[in-house]
Amino acid sequence: MANEQKGLSGTSILSLPTEVLSEVLTRVASSSSTDLFWAKLCCKLLNEVSDADIVYQRVSLAKFELVPWHKNHKVSSFLKKCRQCKNPDVLYRKGVVDFFTDKHGDSALECLEEAANSGHADAAYALGIIYIFVGGDELKRKGISLLSGMKKSGILKGRVKLCRDNLRALLRMIWVKNPVFANPTPICCAMTHERKTSSWPMDADDVEESTCEGCACDEEIGAICAALPYR
Ligand SMILES: [Zn+2]
Repeated sequence: MANEQKGLSGTSILSLPTEVLSEVLTRVASSSSTDLFWAKLCCKLLNEVSDADIVYQRVSLAKFELVPWHKNHKVSSFLKKCRQCKNPDVLYRKGVVDFFTDKHGDSALECLEEAANSGHADAAYALGIIYIFVGGDELKRKGISLLSGMKKSGILKGRVKLCRDNLRALLRMIWVKNPVFANPTPICCAMTHERKTSSWPMDADDVEESTCEGCACDEEIGAICAALPYR
């Protein structure tokens, strides 16, 4: 009994196997980057284990500016490492900023596709909007089916408003220069039926109400156009 107590009192987080420590630090990172940085400062072992790719892949970016205004070498190299490790939030932000500001369009789409494929709802939403704007029958269909798929999905339906708000917030912070957004507003609904004529901003719940897939996408496009500076 005495030995067991002695053993217990000697147990420390540092005695855990590396895989378990790595799992703990990944969870810490995914809830708070600040807590991760504190953990790194604790000791050499925690600093080493927290340098694993999986930690960079899952770390939360909630405390980082959407668009960093001031160049900070430490922040840039941290975000670069996160991007190399396929952190979906970093891929989403980079993809949106690069595509809308008309920098590296192809790699911007790759970033968004990679994030969307890993289940990042914001990236899937942004891709749907971009495909519809870029247009051509095939891409437009792909965009409509992405947005409609989200609205029909039991899990993602409730996320659509948040995705829309997040994209609008990001667009208000950058200089949208991609010429596809200066084109006439694309129209998704090809049917001749009565549709809502109210212009954005309307109550956000209205966007969810359209039963016609095309009209629902047109309402999303309207919401995004309203966040573009020159429309
Ligand atoms: Zn319609």
